[in-house]
This record gives sequence, C-alpha cells and structure tokens, in this order.
Amino acid sequence: MRTLLALLLALLIAVGLVWFLAGRAAGPAITLGAPTTLVGQKTDLKLDVFAPGGVVTALDVSLEQGGTAMPMGSLATPQGLAITPAADRVAVTGVIGRQTAPSLKTGPATLVVNATRPVLFGLRQVSSTFRKDLQVRLTPPTVTVLSQFHFINQGGAEVVVYQVNPADVPSGVRVGDREYPGMAASGAGIPNAAPGLRVAFFPFLFNQAASTPVSLWARDEAGNAATASLDSKVTAKQFRKSTIPLDDAFLQKVVPAILQNTPDLVVKDANDLLASYLVINRDLRKANNETIRTLGRTKTAKEILWRGPFRQMMNSAVEAGFADDRTYTYQGKAVDQQVHLGFDLASTQNAPILAANRGVVIFAGFLGIYGNCVIVDHGMGLQSLYAHLSSIGVQEGQTVEMNGELGRSGQTGLAGGDHLHFTMVLHGEFVTPVDWWSVQWIEDRVMRKLRAAGAPAPQAP
Ligand SMILES: [Zn+2]
Repeated sequence: MRTLLALLLALLIAVGLVWFLAGRAAGPAITLGAPTTLVGQKTDLKLDVFAPGGVVTALDVSLEQGGTAMPMGSLATPQGLAITPAADRVAVTGVIGRQTAPSLKTGPATLVVNATRPVLFGLRQVSSTFRKDLQVRLTPPTVTVLSQFHFINQGGAEVVVYQVNPADVPSGVRVGDREYPGMAASGAGIPNAAPGLRVAFFPFLFNQAASTPVSLWARDEAGNAATASLDSKVTAKQFRKSTIPLDDAFLQKVVPAILQNTPDLVVKDANDLLASYLVINRDLRKANNETIRTLGRTKTAKEILWRGPFRQMMNSAVEAGFADDRTYTYQGKAVDQQVHLGFDLASTQNAPILAANRGVVIFAGFLGIYGNCVIVDHGMGLQSLYAHLSSIGVQEGQTVEMNGELGRSGQTGLAGGDHLHFTMVLHGEFVTPVDWWSVQWIEDRVMRKLRAAGAPAPQAP
C-alpha cells in the first residue's frame, strides 16, 4: 500500500513537472517582413510566425495609437489578412492601415502582434507578443518634372530631372509596365542639390511600341503613391532582319566548348549538335541575359563615373547592329529566331579591347553565349558589355579609365569569327550604344539637362 502511494506521488510530481516545463516553452517567434517604417491608407503587411506543424490557436494583429488598439485582423476574424499555415510556420499577408481603422491619424503608432501555439498535445498554450513602432503617413508624395525636351529613340535611353517630396520616398520612371529608379542628383554632379532632386536614366526597350506611355512614379512604404506624366516624344526605329545559316562546322566549333564551360546546362544529347545549339541559343541566352539584368539592377554606382561620349572600337567594321531580328536556318529550314541586342564590331584577331569610358569592372569571366565577357559599370544604372574575348586582362572591382585595356578580342561563346560584341546596358536592359557614341546626343540629351539643374558647365580645355 505504501509503495503504491509512493508511486502515485512520484507520478503526480512527474506530471506536474511536465506541465510546468511545457508552460515555459517558447511562444511562437514572430518576424516582421513589412512594413518597416511607415503605415498609411493601405499598407502591405508581411509576417512570419514560427509554429510547429503550422498550428496556431490564436493570432491577432492590431495598430495602437494614443492608447487605443485598432484590430487589423485575427485568426477568428481575418478582415484584410490572409493567414496561411505552412510546414512549421504561419504566413500572414494582407493590408493594414486607415482603410481598416478610420480613426488612425498621422504620427507615431505601434504594430502589435499576439500569437499562441499549443504545447503538450494541445493541453497547454504558449503565447508571445511582437511590437514595432511605425509612423503613420497618410498624404501621398508629390513628383514634379523639371527637365525639358524628352526625345526618346525606341531601343535607346533618355534622362529626366525631377523633384520628389518627401525626399525619402522611392521614385523613378515608368515605361509601360517597367519601372526604373531615379537617383540623388548629387550623383550626377549637381552641387547643393535639393534633398528630393532626382536624375533618372531610363531605357525604352526595342520591343516596346512607340506609343507606350512614359511617366514618373513615387511610392512610399505605406502605399501612398503619385504619378506625373512626362512630356516626351518617342521615335520608332526600323530594326533590320537577317538570316544566320547554321552549318555543322559552326555547330562543332561552338557547341562543345560552351557545354564544357556551362556544366549546369542540361541538354538531352550532347552529340546532337543542332538540338544542343538550340538549347544554348534559347535557354542559355535567356539565363545569361537574366544574369546581366540582375547585375544591372544591383551593381551600379550612385554617381556618374563616365566623362564625355563613349568610345567606339577603332578601325572596326560593323557586322551586325542593335536589335537585328535574326532567323537561324539549318539545311535551308528556319530553326530559331532571336534578337541580336548589341553591335558586332570586327577588327584584327586578338585586337585590344578598350573600355568605352571610365567605370568599374563588375563582371569579368565566362558568360555562356557571350563567352569571355567583361561588364563595366558607369554609374546610375549605365553599363557597357564586351563579349567573345580571347583573354580578359581585368578583375572585378577594378576601376578602368577610358581606353584602359580590358582584354583581347576573340571568338569565345556563340561567335563564328573573331569580333567584339558590344552593347550598352541601362538598369539591366540592353540599349543601343549609338546614342552613347554621339557627342551631339550626350550634349543634347544629358549634359544640357544636368546643367539646367545646376551642374557646372565643362571647363574650357
Ligand atoms: Zn553579337
């Protein structure tokens, strides 16, 4: 009898201990993705709540202001929120702000999130609370165009100078469904620029119709947005059509070399040269252009690094122009179609390849169809690209002056013979280099606008 009592007592103590320890388990970890600073009329919310099995028993989101809590949604009443369980987390997305809480006023507020998860087979609950101080901003920003005469060539680039208020709001240019960022005017050599003065270099894609609308945008984290129309004239361009006949000698020359340098590329049968070529010409081209796009958007200086017109390769013959529409044929039949987004410039074999202008090398290596390739950043979204090199003489991070040697011409990648494939890239998009080679275009389209905004006139030599 005494043994039984002792056992019972031990069991009670054990159960109590487990109960006590379960209650001390950590509550759900709450991580806020957005917003980080501002909340407005309709602000995107992104929360991640850690909960094993994706199970929460309670979850609520509110905004607190002046001692009043305004509910934004909960597990029981989601309102504008979507609460989605995943493996070991619960994702909370949706909109918060004044739309849900009409009494929300401009000024400080606190985002409060409470979450509860079950422990001990659901017999106990553990909770946690997350708080984040935010500012309520309800008025939209303003954006005003300051520069004049915006003439855009289809497939080319243009510049606009504008003012955004407040100065901390992201802004830029929208062309159709594409958005490009504006940057602080101090980066364009404008001294004592007003805080919200911006300069945006932007591309007008070769495949966007000349009627595509161009406007300015500004949008804060709270979701307050503004647009301004840009008075501009777009000139449609005729792009050439060309035919590239593929033969076995060419396929034998380029396909195995590219496959060898690109182990990640999957082809069905490496011995089927035409099929492998088509994978390279379509899929690898797409992947390479995506790499260039990412570099263009992420690796650019905040200030203009270039000086004066860009330099064209000396004594070179133009073999192909920008945006030539190429049909590839094999044994007389069309097998592929791609757009050639650059200039092919041929000189002598192993000719020195010189930087078209001052900048920083942001890529130097093998890049699929482009072979050995160098990309130079010239700042504020502008870059130049040099492809098919036989050798590379620079390293990433290196500053190069205009005419600094980058390497030697060659025929690596998708190249039939020794030539330089050259193009300009703006915010990751290919634009024709013709404009950037032109003294007149640089003066009319860029320097005139920067001087009108306060940039100093160039010193007489
Ligand atoms: Zn080319």
